[in-house]
Amino acid sequence: MTNNNENNFLNTQKPKTFSASLALVFILFFTILNTGNTEPIIPILGFHGIIDPKASTLRSYKGEMNYQREDLEKLLEYLVLNDYWFLSTQDLYSFFLKKSHKISAEHRNKKTIMISFDDGYKTVHTNLLPILYKLENKYRRRVKVVLFINPGSLASNNSVNSVHLGCQELREGFKKGFYDIQSHGMNHKNLTNLPRHQLVNELLQARTELRKCTQDLDIKQTVASHFAYPYGAYTKQVKYYVSKYYLSSYLYNDKILNYACLKDYHVIPRLMVNRQKSTQQLIEMAKGLHPINDKEKC
Ligand SMILES: [Zn+2]
Repeated sequence: MTNNNENNFLNTQKPKTFSASLALVFILFFTILNTGNTEPIIPILGFHGIIDPKASTLRSYKGEMNYQREDLEKLLEYLVLNDYWFLSTQDLYSFFLKKSHKISAEHRNKKTIMISFDDGYKTVHTNLLPILYKLENKYRRRVKVVLFINPGSLASNNSVNSVHLGCQELREGFKKGFYDIQSHGMNHKNLTNLPRHQLVNELLQARTELRKCTQDLDIKQTVASHFAYPYGAYTKQVKYYVSKYYLSSYLYNDKILNYACLKDYHVIPRLMVNRQKSTQQLIEMAKGLHPINDKEKC
């Protein structure tokens, strides 16, 4: 009798338990889906030069690290149309890392991204800047990009053959509000191999030279306040000295930033972009769909 009762009880409870479990599975499934969108993740894309295959008369920029102009334009247009907030290094630092400033209502809940270009190639001026002007005219949106520059390799005023851009070109993009100009060391040296005085010199001279180029345009000295390690290479000592002169520093390690986990502002991860990556792949990176194993774990 007791057994029968138990059986009856179990039988009548089964459908309910089953639907409750099903509901739980659905809840869990949607929670997981949602977590993907609400994780505190900011993709920081790291580009170098920008090539325009149509302009074949230019000295060839065939390097693996160069990206095609047309594909970059498609990416930036997608980001503008999807209302991304293009972060400057100071935005990332004040709003998301230090949290010393409150995000304005206009920017709250916006998707965020940082687009950076290393080494100051001339093609940033010849192939990227025209895209930025074009997008501004078409959509009334100003795209901000971060340039990590080595002032030691800036082209001189009358140099036409240099593959690097010059101070005047930097000033143009800065004045228009497109460029966030930051430091990549004076001469793109691997800092991990340098004696202390040379290391300090690479860091300090870069800051001085970049600020000299923009001083009348940059009253608040936002230029050269942040740093990207050349080759992404650093040691404990390098990081220590960089942190004396710069507020934050960027790696080049193909990892995505989870800012809730990042306690050390001198190891900000960046995603690597080379010409093998399609616009679609970059859009997926922008959406934060980078392989989960590569995400910074808390
Ligand atoms: Zn570099």
